[in-house]
Amino acid sequence: VCKAVSKLQPAEDGLFLVRESIRHPGDYVLCVSFSGEVIHYRVIYQNNKLTINLKQYFYNLIDMIEFYSRCKESIVTTLTKPKKKQGTKSAELELSKTGWLLDITKLTLGEQIGEGEFGAVYRGEYMGQKVAVKIIKCDVTAQSFLQETTVMTKLQHKNLVRLLGVILHKGLHIITELMTKGNLGNFLRTRGRSVINSVQLLHFALNVCEGMEYLESKKLVHRDLAARNVLVSDDSVAKVSDFGLTKVDSKEPDKAKLPVKWTAPESLKKEKFSTKSDVWSYGILLWEIFTYGRQPYPKMSLKEVKEKVEEGYRMESPESCPPNVYSLMRLCWEQDPRRRPGFSKLREKLEQEMS
Ligand code: ADP
Repeated sequence: VCKAVSKLQPAEDGLFLVRESIRHPGDYVLCVSFSGEVIHYRVIYQNNKLTINLKQYFYNLIDMIEFYSRCKESIVTTLTKPKKKQGTKSAELELSKTGWLLDITKLTLGEQIGEGEFGAVYRGEYMGQKVAVKIIKCDVTAQSFLQETTVMTKLQHKNLVRLLGVILHKGLHIITELMTKGNLGNFLRTRGRSVINSVQLLHFALNVCEGMEYLESKKLVHRDLAARNVLVSDDSVAKVSDFGLTKVDSKEPDKAKLPVKWTAPESLKKEKFSTKSDVWSYGILLWEIFTYGRQPYPKMSLKEVKEKVEEGYRMESPESCPPNVYSLMRLCWEQDPRRRPGFSKLREKLEQEMS
């Protein structure tokens, strides 16, 4: 609280900022300067909407601030001037300056093609280009995602699903390239051995590895690498998706939500995430690829997986998997993260396997 008060200086009626609540982490507080004092309004998050008075509800903070800049209703003074964070531009301003804010009127939404943890995914068209649109409705999540998309704008690689831009409209629309063949897990399961040969499988493995090598070079940790988060393009190139977004809720690491069967033992036990824990997940992803999308550790419960893996248990080689590829999986599953190879090393080995 004191920090917000000292930040809203020099005192000027209507100068405001939004900070995270100290007593209720994850909630927000609107702080407004008035008559030399700072008034604090707790932002209540209810049914996917935000309110400060349980009367007027908003889909996001931006809408809320817009409203109270116009109306004095239930607040001491209209908001006149946002106190910008020192040193960092606001995410919105940064996105707009760099041309990543797109125009809602140029977007045509089509049918729904997927459902994610934070929102539904639709097919769409933006200025004649086929796109995918993830709509994050109405809440604080949208605000954190906005911050994360500023990271995504700086990442471009042929094996990462490309961000085309965002639209701030009833929450947040995230526009990416359309990956017509859907996620890799479904892609493999619905086609199977009779349609997809092992050369194609190796291609997918290499595609993902190159995308991850790029993230590794940027010192970014994915945390949720799995076949469901790899998408396949029209020309059958596999690309990593959901990077940059995965750290959104890392403030309160929720152990219950970790994808146990993909998560490295040190991440499960000590919440230590690193490129090397991504490498562990990559090993599981290799297993998924070479089983044509089977569920890892078949028939084992999550509790069993945790215990057995800690004791050194590892999955067997998938049927007709090249022995060298299985050796790579085993390297990815070294208990000690330091003994696992990095993604460059993995790429070299995969390339050898293909030649
Ligand atoms: P989650 O939040 O569970 O990681 P996403 O919201 O990223 O999932 O995506 C959910 C589903 O929507 C994916 O499994 C995929 O089938 C589909 N999808 C997501 N992004 C795209 C895209 N760019 N192109 C085509 N389909 C997509």
